[in-house]
Amino acid sequence: MKSLRDLYKIGKGPSSSHTIGPERAAKIFMQRHPAPRYRVILYGSLGLTGRGHLTDKVLAETLPDAEIVFSGDFVDEHPNTLDLFALDERGKIKARMRAYSIGGGSIRIENEDDDRPLDVYPHASFKDVADYCRKEGIDLPAYVRRFEPDGLDDHLARVLDAMDTSIREGIDAEGVLPGDLGLRRKAGTLYRMKPTDEPDEVGLTRIVSAYAFAVSETNASGGTVVTAPTCGASGVLPAVLRFMRDKHDLQRQALIDALAVGGIIGNIVKHNASISGAEAGCQAEIGTACSMAAAMHAFLRDADMDTIEYAAEVAMEHHLGLTCDPVLGYVQIPCIERNAVAALRAMDASNIAYFSSAFRKISFDLVVETMHETGRDLPKGYRETSTKGLAKKYRLK
Ligand code: SF4
Repeated sequence: MKSLRDLYKIGKGPSSSHTIGPERAAKIFMQRHPAPRYRVILYGSLGLTGRGHLTDKVLAETLPDAEIVFSGDFVDEHPNTLDLFALDERGKIKARMRAYSIGGGSIRIENEDDDRPLDVYPHASFKDVADYCRKEGIDLPAYVRRFEPDGLDDHLARVLDAMDTSIREGIDAEGVLPGDLGLRRKAGTLYRMKPTDEPDEVGLTRIVSAYAFAVSETNASGGTVVTAPTCGASGVLPAVLRFMRDKHDLQRQALIDALAVGGIIGNIVKHNASISGAEAGCQAEIGTACSMAAAMHAFLRDADMDTIEYAAEVAMEHHLGLTCDPVLGYVQIPCIERNAVAALRAMDASNIAYFSSAFRKISFDLVVETMHETGRDLPKGYRETSTKGLAKKYRLK
């Protein structure tokens, strides 16, 4: 598995595979092939949802005089493929590069190794990680520090600050989100309303949702968020962390350690399955975020290794089969609300694990394998194409 730096990236929304990945490919291509003009052809999910996901905007900002072509065709190699062409003054092609946006902002260039750093962890499954920790008598944050290059805590501190900033920006912002849906921002309203007769459990839902909405609305408007593990699912972890910090008056180091715990969970999914909605549906994005947040929540309550694993497992198990069908191609409906629901579900999963981890039958590794297989079995229309599900029904209404 790679460094957690590769999992937690700070970048512009609304979709790591549709904005951060293509932007990275464009920068590499432009550096290799400086030219006065460029053309980019977007295939598959990038072609079908690139407008709503602001792929054209980020490419136009990165490449001079760029013509963006949206193709509905799929390339077998990967559902998020883009061809970049460098053109001379007369429009003649000087160079070409094909890239695949493989999820979480990472890319792979055709006929080259992927652009990510080498593996830093010797283990790839939760079982192996947990066995090693038990043998060495260390917890998950200590495990992470043992194998990560120096400076990880500084990176996680920056991640924590970026999460807080995205909450603050989302709560302070007002008005309507960009795009044709005309969706009103809700985070600030949720955060500020406090009915005098509000039951405790409603108050908990409101405040956790306010944080998740805040980050997801920041993301939907192209603001800066943390891939946790993706931009589309970026509201889940910050909402749970912020709620736990305020409720239990947690110190900064505890939150950094929790990010390390959530990171190991996200890394295991990324390494063994997928965190890309275009590859495996929303279960891969929101399901993974929910698992990461559930593990963090359990860790922050001093849970043992079994309970942390069970929390992550429950969170993923009950997202199996979740489709990706963003309405009109925007990362807004169902995405924003879904982040709030997943943050609440992460805490529920951790609570269930708290009292029943001794009776569990399903391991986290098994549920990750199942998610991957389920994702491959999902029809293409349910994998970030906006051609099926809620996206189709909304268009027809
Ligand atoms: S439905 Fe889920 S996977 Fe699809 S764009 Fe929205 S958050 Fe991402």
